Amino acid sequence: MQKNKNISKKKKLKKHIVTHSLHRKISGFSKVSPKRKGKCKQCGECCKLGIICPFLTYDSNGKAKCMIYKIRPSWCKKYPRVPNEFDTKDVCGYWFEEKEIKKK
Ligand code: SF4
Ligand code: SF4
Repeated sequence: MQKNKNISKKKKLKKHIVTHSLHRKISGFSKVSPKRKGKCKQCGECCKLGIICPFLTYDSNGKAKCMIYKIRPSWCKKYPRVPNEFDTKDVCGYWFEEKEIKKK
């Protein structure tokens, strides 16, 4: 019984990782919402979604660094792109405006 539970957990985790990674990769071709504000604090949490990225490292001040920064994928450059893909909102330096600002 315990073994079945563990297999089920592993399956769920695998499914989550595959779905999450695929979704991010596909959505990386879309635009960043104009409602996104703020800037990256280099916490590195978005590089740990699904799996910990092998290119994630930290400097001596504890700031996250990407080992392939100049050629990092578009979904990394655009994170967080839209509110419903924002999985690190508790720690991230970005946020999304709730209401649309109308131009006069
Ligand atoms: S979670 Fe936000 S603040 Fe942290 S590294 Fe990613 S984009 Fe930057
Ligand atoms: S490639 Fe760089 S920016 Fe993208 S998840 Fe990995 S460490 Fe983070």
